Amino acid sequence: MNTATPAGQLPPALIGMDTGEIQQWIGPDQPAFRACQIYEAAYRQRAAGWDQITVLPAQVRGGLSARLAFGLPEAAAEYKSADGTRRYLLRLADGRTVETVLMPEEQRDTICISSQVGCPVDCRFCLTALMGLERNLTAGEIAGQVLLLARLHGLDPAARQLNVVMMGQGEPLLNLANVLKATRLLTDPRGVGMSERRITLSTSGIIPRIADLGQSPVRPKLAISLNASTEEQRRELMPITRKYHLRDLIDACRAYPLRPWEKLTFEYVLLGGVNDTDADARRVVRLLANLNAKVNLIALNPGPGIPYATPGAARVDSFREIISKSMPCMVRKPRGRDIFAACGQLQRIEGC
Ligand code: SAH
Ligand code: SF4
Repeated sequence: MNTATPAGQLPPALIGMDTGEIQQWIGPDQPAFRACQIYEAAYRQRAAGWDQITVLPAQVRGGLSARLAFGLPEAAAEYKSADGTRRYLLRLADGRTVETVLMPEEQRDTICISSQVGCPVDCRFCLTALMGLERNLTAGEIAGQVLLLARLHGLDPAARQLNVVMMGQGEPLLNLANVLKATRLLTDPRGVGMSERRITLSTSGIIPRIADLGQSPVRPKLAISLNASTEEQRRELMPITRKYHLRDLIDACRAYPLRPWEKLTFEYVLLGGVNDTDADARRVVRLLANLNAKVNLIALNPGPGIPYATPGAARVDSFREIISKSMPCMVRKPRGRDIFAACGQLQRIEGC
């Protein structure tokens, strides 16, 4: 695992600040409504930079922009898939890059955002794991991915058609404070205005943080990467299971305070000949019995250095049928595999 610049050493930036923080930054000489004007311009009108916050007197704007970075990430490269998916390599203030994916569909668009640069959790089937952790993203860098893609594609986050999934690079529950602050910024009706029902966080199962997430008044929906049907198998595929046992993870899910409209989502990556048998499917059903849950199956998205195979369509179907008898179960359509944009493929691979 390699670590570098702590996010705390980044230059201060507007994107990521709430009204109180903006107020503190602009100082007591400015009238109180200034902070609200700046907040609205940044989050509701989604300005691209200080020069677009024209509601500010030029002098105030000039003074602020000299002291405070605007803070939207910059699109350093864009890769387009044959299926319409776009993968962006975004450059951050310290020159590091991270990935964000836009998946347009007829009825809705989904933006898949990252929570860390790389990931410290070493799941055996995931390309991001091979990067190790470079650093946590700030709240501004997390929310900024949505703001930037909304700008680039003319999407309205307050409209019902836009979903955000925290399923890009990183383990969101290892950066929970910033993930929650980004969620508050994205859901604030005075700003970006998304519904918390349309934001989903996916975790490899950091048990103590699942409980913390449940205590947060504003929080994304919770998805758990299950990926195995027994303790031993999960330990093999997701070594973090040695620290956070599968049995305890299921207990944490049982104790999780779901909102009335919410179900837990369990994701399950099918690895040919490893965790994809009918017996595995039946064990998954037993594991999740009595949970208000649905299952999303993902046939492995392959990548260089990943020692597993994608199961055939018939195997995936058989697995789905067994689970569907007990709870909702769907197979996630692979998006953007040709440009390394699909689940578990985010490793900043260039040139596709
Ligand atoms: N770190 C979080 C979120 C990012 S990974 C987590 O693990 O949940 C998002 C999803 O992609 C997870 O469900 C993960 O199990 C899945 N995934 C990882 N590698 C994959 C691969 N090679 N093929 C298909 N899905 C994969
Ligand atoms: Fe990290 Fe998720 Fe990949 Fe595991 S699957 S290495 S937790 S990004």
